[in-house]
Amino acid sequence: MSQPGHVVVIGAGLGGVRTAEQLRTAGFEGTISLVGAEPHAPYDRPPLSKQVLTGAWTPERIVLRDHDALAELKVDTHFGVPAVALHDGAVELADGTTLRADAFVIATGADPRRLPGQPDEVHTLRTLDDSLSLRRALEGAKSLLVVGGGFIGAEVASGAVAQGLQVTVLEALPVPCERALGPEVGVLCGRLISEGGVDLRLGAKLTRFIDANTVELADGERLSADVILVGIGAAPSLEWLRREGVDTANGVACDGHGRVLGTSGVWAVGDVAAWEDPVRGRHFRNEHWTSVTDQAAVVARDIAGAEPPPETVPYFWSDQFGLKIQGIGRPELGDEVVRLKGEGLSGGAVKGTVAGYFAGGRLMGVVGFGAAKWVARYRALVAKGADRAEALALE
Ligand SMILES: Cc1cc2nc3c(=O)[nH]c(=O)nc-3n(C[C@H](O)[C@H](O)[C@H](O)COP(=O)(O)OP(=O)(O)OC[C@H]3O[C@@H](n4cnc5c(N)ncnc54)[C@H](O)[C@@H]3O)c2cc1C
Repeated sequence: MSQPGHVVVIGAGLGGVRTAEQLRTAGFEGTISLVGAEPHAPYDRPPLSKQVLTGAWTPERIVLRDHDALAELKVDTHFGVPAVALHDGAVELADGTTLRADAFVIATGADPRRLPGQPDEVHTLRTLDDSLSLRRALEGAKSLLVVGGGFIGAEVASGAVAQGLQVTVLEALPVPCERALGPEVGVLCGRLISEGGVDLRLGAKLTRFIDANTVELADGERLSADVILVGIGAAPSLEWLRREGVDTANGVACDGHGRVLGTSGVWAVGDVAAWEDPVRGRHFRNEHWTSVTDQAAVVARDIAGAEPPPETVPYFWSDQFGLKIQGIGRPELGDEVVRLKGEGLSGGAVKGTVAGYFAGGRLMGVVGFGAAKWVARYRALVAKGADRAEALALE
């Protein structure tokens, strides 16, 4: 396949920047245009709920590539102007610019989900501006209410507790992270939050906002806080992409190379993209930093006509309450959770616990709590789908 002459990457976050970089690494010599809705140079999001929020890092520290570095890569930038439509062979920007190209990569990420009736003053966290605004609000506050006990909510709660705030977390499910990690390991996430000094309310269903500082729960209880953050996940940013024949029901449906189904010359990467899952056989969004980077390499090499990169083992992490939660492989595919290391699964210390997820007797994934050394060592066993005896024997 001959290389296209011009690739337009829509979305200048992690997926967009990595795609541009990987195109050059794969030997692509044509024109690359990078379009970003935000005015900022592309930046990294994980520190937004961690070091940037607590003030440990300045925003400059999270820049992925500044304007000079993008110029060096010969990438034309259009920042602060969202794309508003994608037609055959052209993308339209909000300022009236039309960029014609023969390949397009959709990398527009996701927007935080909001609750019905959510007042504008209630915070969500996705962008640098969101993080700085939440930081300012927390500076003068004594209390924080977090709606949603997932990773981002727990990380914000962790930082706020460390700064001396009284923190409550509402989780609608019986344990946090149940969908991603299952009930047994979800219990450990919940223990980490409550043992960290947070008032964790499980099975707590918010029915309405009374105002920007007070919510009402299903049992009629009202909870107030100086600051409220809603952290209930993110929906793919697709409003701008109205195009017949493209399945956008839950992200842009793509094949296993990131090619958007129903199109030619269009790919999608990152949180906006629902790639075909070789194991489950359906389309699946994988909203983790490492998978975005991995997908960018696959797409860039596909566009450049290079060999696909070697397969990788999925990985994610979260920093909270003084330790790192790490996951490798596909824990969500496991039907049995087995203690590999530590005592957390039997009620002992959460720190040092490693859980193995098995399906059909094969190791599908591993999740560790403050156990980085072990998680790294299980990677090879997850990659080959080791059996239970081999996983338990690792010393
Ligand atoms: C607060 C936070 C903490 C996180 N922490 C972790 C972590 O600890 N570990 C982990 O594994 N993962 C973490 N993640 C997830 C990881 O950062 C994301 O998976 C990753 O940023 C997704 O990259 P992306 O390029 O798909 O989307 P994004 O990084 O969201 O980039 C998309 C970009 O596209 C732009 N855009 C949207 N619409 C348009 C348009 N119409 N035209 C042009 N541009 C547009 C957006 O403004 C945005 O800049 C975290 C995410 C957040 C938000």
